[in-house]
Amino acid sequence: MTATDIESMLSDISAAVALGADTVECRLDFLAKPPTPDQLASLISRSPVDVIATCRPVREGGRFAGDEKKRLEILHSAATSGAAFVDVESDVPRRHWPNAPIILSHHDFEGAPENLDAILADMEASDAAVNKIAFTAAGPEDAMRALDLLRQATKPALALAMGEAGLLSRILARKFGAFGTFAALSKSAQSAPGQPSLEEFKNLYRWDSIGPETKLFGVVGCPVAHSMSPAVHNASFSAADIDAVYLPLRVEPGEENFVRFIKAAAARPWLGLEGLSVTIPHKHNAIAHVGSDNCDELARKIGAINTVTISRDGKLRGCNTDYAGAIDALCNTMKIVREQLAGRAVAVIGAGGAARALVAALSYYGAKVTIYNRTVSRAEQLAEEFDCQSAGLEEICKLDAEIVVNCTSIGMHPDAESSSLESIPPSVKVVFDTVYNPLETRLLKLATQAGCLCVSGLDMFVNQAAAQFELWTGEPAPKNVMKNVTLERLKCSG
Ligand code: NAP
Repeated sequence: MTATDIESMLSDISAAVALGADTVECRLDFLAKPPTPDQLASLISRSPVDVIATCRPVREGGRFAGDEKKRLEILHSAATSGAAFVDVESDVPRRHWPNAPIILSHHDFEGAPENLDAILADMEASDAAVNKIAFTAAGPEDAMRALDLLRQATKPALALAMGEAGLLSRILARKFGAFGTFAALSKSAQSAPGQPSLEEFKNLYRWDSIGPETKLFGVVGCPVAHSMSPAVHNASFSAADIDAVYLPLRVEPGEENFVRFIKAAAARPWLGLEGLSVTIPHKHNAIAHVGSDNCDELARKIGAINTVTISRDGKLRGCNTDYAGAIDALCNTMKIVREQLAGRAVAVIGAGGAARALVAALSYYGAKVTIYNRTVSRAEQLAEEFDCQSAGLEEICKLDAEIVVNCTSIGMHPDAESSSLESIPPSVKVVFDTVYNPLETRLLKLATQAGCLCVSGLDMFVNQAAAQFELWTGEPAPKNVMKNVTLERLKCSG
């Protein structure tokens, strides 16, 4: 609870309890004025659930700037008033600890200390009720070190990696028997960097269903915070009653960072990591590390994978479900099988990552592809690689194709009034826009008016997620759930 006065803190406690919190941490250092003993007694006695009293000093990343004597008086008062636990920093001498169950805490905001094991051992030698270690994560591998601590601990423990990359430690705390985890009442009320909200814990990350056997999946990328995949896959696991959780895993750009993450995960088979989605900027790093021999044929041709499956013996396999998602969205709308793309003229607009997956797959199934791109040299390069035609974007008005696929970001929110084509040429019967925000782009509106079949980026997105789900679980994907969650997310993002 990070409110700045006692009454607001009490109303936040009620809100947190209504959302399912069973214990609340009252951050007394957030109060605008140091609380009096009476105020503390009122706060603690009126809380319907157990209170952890914390008054974090500035030196440990908190807001209490007063003197140490005053701070300790506040903590003693909280203890006398019946706080279930009082949080005391590990540099506070034992003689100053209040007479109450203690959460002994150690923070490092700079990074993950080298000597985490020694820090835990020292803390465990004390008579604190719970030991808490929190440090800033540079990557998910640091979050795994927090889980190592939980597995090592012989007493109740909390081990948390802070920051976006530390999320894994906060969610999997339950899998590894942590004393608990910390959730913010809302996104704006975080008491530590990277802390998800209570609502996210419960509804997005399936906190209540996580247990020792829960399997782990995730999306590796940078940035990943806004990925829709966690919402889509977690809702699908729930719908299919699969004991698994899917997390965003922020891995900084660079092959070395990707490899460090994969090696750290491989060294910890107890994590239960069974699959990964891979997104920008790691799609090429992933195929390099997994090895093209362990990837499907089209992924090899594309030179990128977006899906990794990890078998029980730790073997990695790479796939590219982007192309499959796109091709199937197109074929399903046209009511044809992939092989019936052979001989059809297709204009692909764009020469980036999405275009590459589409061009590789369309060429593989025998379509006659022409690539149009703003930067002509990129179009030429791609065309040469996949044996198709190329042209500059200014020649698009002359196109003569049955199918048009937009693989640029033209028309994407907030630039929704743009379109890669100003009118639909008479030869065109099918228009596929890979952009899915907005759902009906200006290009698709023009295509509908011209009487064309329309394929939306939403279908491509749902198909690629469904293909991943099926690869990982061996079960049919709940596509309707995936579609509804995506629509809901898109509505929220405007
Ligand atoms: P990318 O690798 O960065 O490529 C971007 C492409 O768009 C390039 O060809 C670029 O041309 C072109 N472009 C960008 N802005 C332009 C402009 N103002 N005018 C003309 N051309 C422009 O990105 P990507 O990964 O291929 O993604 C492209 C789009 O595909 C995304 O915006 C997204 O909407 C869509 N997508 C959809 C899904 C899905 O599941 N539905 C999945 C992936 C991507 P230059 O080469 O000249 O820079």
